[in-house]
Amino acid sequence: PTEVVPQAPEDPLFGLMRAYKADQSPDKIDLGIGAYRDDNAKPWVLPVVKKADEILRNNPELDHEYAPIAGIPSFTSKAAELMLGADSPALLEKRATSIQTISGTGAVHLGALFLAKFYKGNRRVYVSNPTWVNHHQIFNNVGLPTESYPYFDKNTKGLDFEGMKTAIRDAPEHSIILMHACAHNPTGVDPTLEQWKELAEIIRERKHFPFFDSAYQGFASGNLAQDASAVRYFIEQGFELLIAQSFAKNFGLYGERAGCFHAITSPGEEATTTITRLASQLAILQRSEISNPPLYGARIVSTVLNDPALFAEWEENLSTMSGRIISMRKALRGKLEELGTPGTWNHITDQIGMFSFTGLTEQQVQRLRDETHIYMTKNGRISMAGLNIHNVDRFANAVHHVVSS
Ligand code: PMP
Repeated sequence: PTEVVPQAPEDPLFGLMRAYKADQSPDKIDLGIGAYRDDNAKPWVLPVVKKADEILRNNPELDHEYAPIAGIPSFTSKAAELMLGADSPALLEKRATSIQTISGTGAVHLGALFLAKFYKGNRRVYVSNPTWVNHHQIFNNVGLPTESYPYFDKNTKGLDFEGMKTAIRDAPEHSIILMHACAHNPTGVDPTLEQWKELAEIIRERKHFPFFDSAYQGFASGNLAQDASAVRYFIEQGFELLIAQSFAKNFGLYGERAGCFHAITSPGEEATTTITRLASQLAILQRSEISNPPLYGARIVSTVLNDPALFAEWEENLSTMSGRIISMRKALRGKLEELGTPGTWNHITDQIGMFSFTGLTEQQVQRLRDETHIYMTKNGRISMAGLNIHNVDRFANAVHHVVSS
C-alpha cells in the first residue's frame, strides 16, 4: 500500500527555518517564524509565566491525572471570559460552550470537524486571500473545500474592503465565513470596527455562518478587549458563531499547545438546550481525536487568568511585546523613508500585530536571502518580532538595496 503515497513538499515555513539554521553568517536575520523575539533575537519567556510555573511547581496537590474531556474548567471558563468579556450576554444567558484544544490549530480543527459532521448549509469555507496557509489544509482534510474572498489590496497595502464585501455577498447563502479576529496573518491588516459592522450586516443578510480565528488577542492593539471587539460585536448582534482561540502568542506558550474552542448560539428560549446538545457532540469529537487535552499550558494560563495581580502583570508583559513591535515598525518605516527607498512605507506602521506584508516581490525576497542572509516568506511577509534595535537598520539598508537596484 505504501507505493501509492506520493512525496509531499516540505512545509514552506519550516523549510525556511531549516535554511536559516544552516546559514553560517553571524549577521543572518530570521523574519520568517511567527514567534516573539526580544531585542537580542531570543525567545522570551514571559515573567508572569515564570511566576505561574513557580506556583504550579510548589503545589503538592497537582498530579498528572487526565484532564476532563472538555479540559480544565478553571481554564476554559476564564478563556471564554477573556474572549467574550465577563459581562457577555452569551455567558450570562448560558449560550456558550467552551472546550480546551491543542492550541489554536486544534481549535480550528475541532470547529472544522464539527462543521463537517453537522453543517447543513453551503459546505464551503470562505477564507481571506491570503490567509494563514494552514486554514486551507485544516478544512480540506475534513472534506470542507475552501474558497477565497479578496482581502489585501496590493496597491494600498491595506484592506480590499469592497472586494471582500462583494465576495461575501455573492457567496451562496449559508456559507461558512472564516475571519481573523484581529492582527490578520499574514497581512497585518484588520477591518475597522465600522467595517466589521458592515460585514456583520452582509453576513446576516446572506445567512452565513461566522467562524472567528483569534490567535493574537492582546498583540494587535495591546488591549485585550479591543482586540476582541469584532467577535464581541457579532455576539451582541445575536449571531450563532464559532471561535478558535490560541494562547501561543499572547502567553508565549507556543509549544505547550494551550487553546480553546467556543461555540455560541443565538439568544432565545432554546439557547441553553441547544448549547448542551452542541457540548455533548463536541465532547465525542474530542474523545475520538485526543481523548483529553494537555495539562501544563492550560494550568499556566488558568493560574494567571484567575489571579487579578498576575492578570495585571500579564497585561504589562503583553504591552512589552506589542510596544517593542510597534517601535520596530516606526524604526523600519523611519529608516526606509530617510534612505528615500522607492515606494511608500506608511503601511509598515498602519499594519498591526506580529506581521507586516511589505510588498516586496518574490524576487526581492530571494535576493535578500541570497545576498544579505535575511530570511522571510516568499510572499514578502515579515515577522516584526524578528527585528530589533541591533538589526533594523541593516534590514532597512538591505531592503533599500534590493528595491533600488
Ligand atoms: N490561526 C492563525 C491565524 C495563526 O496565525 C496561528 C499561528 N500561526 C494559529 C491559528 C494557530 O497557532 P497555534 O496552533 O500555535 O495556536
